[in-house]
Amino acid sequence: MTKDQLFYPTKLKLTILELLARFEVLTTRDLAQLIYQNDSINSIRTINRTLANLNSHSLVNQIFFRPEDYLGRGNLPNASGLSEQGVAFAEERWPATYPKEFPRTHSPHTIEHDLRRARTHIAIDQFSRDNKLTLGWKKGGNHIVKPDDTFELTKEKTAHFFLEEEYKRKDFDALYEKLKPYVSLHGSAEIKKEWGFRYYTVVVPMRDADAMQNILTHFKGGCNCVDPKLKYMHRSAPFKLHTDVIAFTTHQEIIERTSQPILYAPSGKIIALLDIVK
Ligand SMILES: [Zn+2]
Repeated sequence: MTKDQLFYPTKLKLTILELLARFEVLTTRDLAQLIYQNDSINSIRTINRTLANLNSHSLVNQIFFRPEDYLGRGNLPNASGLSEQGVAFAEERWPATYPKEFPRTHSPHTIEHDLRRARTHIAIDQFSRDNKLTLGWKKGGNHIVKPDDTFELTKEKTAHFFLEEEYKRKDFDALYEKLKPYVSLHGSAEIKKEWGFRYYTVVVPMRDADAMQNILTHFKGGCNCVDPKLKYMHRSAPFKLHTDVIAFTTHQEIIERTSQPILYAPSGKIIALLDIVK
């Protein structure tokens, strides 16, 4: 091994590795915001240089992807996450981050979804520090329900949450099928056996306010469809799910107004995260 190939763990390299261990997938801009609280050209350059170094030491993988709002000009953004070796490194140093691999074979199509998960995580992490709560976060998971993530917030008691980031357009059938089990299993011995807790709230950030309003209307048993065929199909309220267990919001709201009453339950309740954490 030549001198160039030795890995020198500078403070910046370690900070980047820890952030990727904690948040799983981030763009250079996300990292610059977290580390320097800005995304100036200099910050971006420094982060990119360090990422390239971490990549050359096989600790980080980087994948280019095409964002939905990409206009077809300029460089495609890339997303970074830990390699298998990076995960092993992070598990030693920061086990509480539950690092997860971002393999080179990761589909570029799900990267935007993963970035949304990461940004929600960043917002809730900040929210918990602002409110002196302890945050525990686990990525993924698949036991009777298959959430994007689970997290818990502890003040005096611990409140449990499932996160379902709904970025893609989905029909009501698909969302109903996906969310109904959370309602049926709430409070049951089955969920306790699989996840270790019985009561929880499912936080569902949607792509925009329209998508959220449409799903809420249908889950409340109504229909705001314009298409006469859909109106006819929805007349008997097939998606009605009267519940406080599911809380809809928008991705933008959870990122920008994390502590506000931004959670809308089909029961009609509008609450803030702090109303759930006691
Ligand atoms: Zn409808």
